[in-house]
Amino acid sequence: MVLALLVADDAGAQDFAAQRARLVAEVEATYAETRALTGLAAMSPRVRAALGKVERHRLVPTGQRSLAYRNHPLPIGLGQTISQPYIVALSADLIAPQTQHVVLEVGTGSGYQAAILAEIVSRVFSIEIIETLGKKAEQDLKQLGYANIEIRIGDGYQGWPEKAPFDGIVVTAAAPRVPEALIEQLRPGGRMVIPVGEPGGAQDLVLITKRADGGFERRSVLPVRFVPLVPGK
Ligand code: SAH
Repeated sequence: MVLALLVADDAGAQDFAAQRARLVAEVEATYAETRALTGLAAMSPRVRAALGKVERHRLVPTGQRSLAYRNHPLPIGLGQTISQPYIVALSADLIAPQTQHVVLEVGTGSGYQAAILAEIVSRVFSIEIIETLGKKAEQDLKQLGYANIEIRIGDGYQGWPEKAPFDGIVVTAAAPRVPEALIEQLRPGGRMVIPVGEPGGAQDLVLITKRADGGFERRSVLPVRFVPLVPGK
């Protein structure tokens, strides 16, 4: 009986690994299709390896596990979603992550984007405004063995000044404009990706690159649809 269970479990794990490999191929195909917009023909080897490794099925609600490796967003409860894997990969690539980098994420949600980043950079700080989600992600990521992710419950509009400056910032909820505090907490030469636009309306994934003189370049990368970044109280 126990043996049968173990075998079944192992078969399940292999199946998820195979599904993950197919997801990597699908995301790669989406990169090729969107190349004209993003300027990126292919995933970087680092991001590809992370996507092939992070167990997305362990970060979605149990009932969604069979859908975990589709290239789609999924509901994670409390009206929030885990982003589409293509967007998670692209956001990681746009900040050009390096192994020694310290990165801030705004909008922890399921913890998936944080895990992808944590596979690549040295430390990830992530802020979530909904306590239930932040605590759940913290627990799940710990179980997955990520010791380089720190989660705080709070308002991401203000960033995390005590841990700044950041080499990269990934915002995973849409804001009507780029929060000033986040630009301030970016290191010169650092990059930030943020969906900018009205909730439910047209949004663009925007890439901000901070210059050495403190100013910044801004480029709209592609149209997206994210849940809104809610203003803190
Ligand atoms: N990165 C997530 C996707 C999360 S969806 C993932 O990989 O699963 C966006 C998240 O941003 C939601 O969990 C939402 O609660 C959170 N959020 C919204 N406004 C916020 C704010 N002002 N500060 C921090 N988090 C916020």
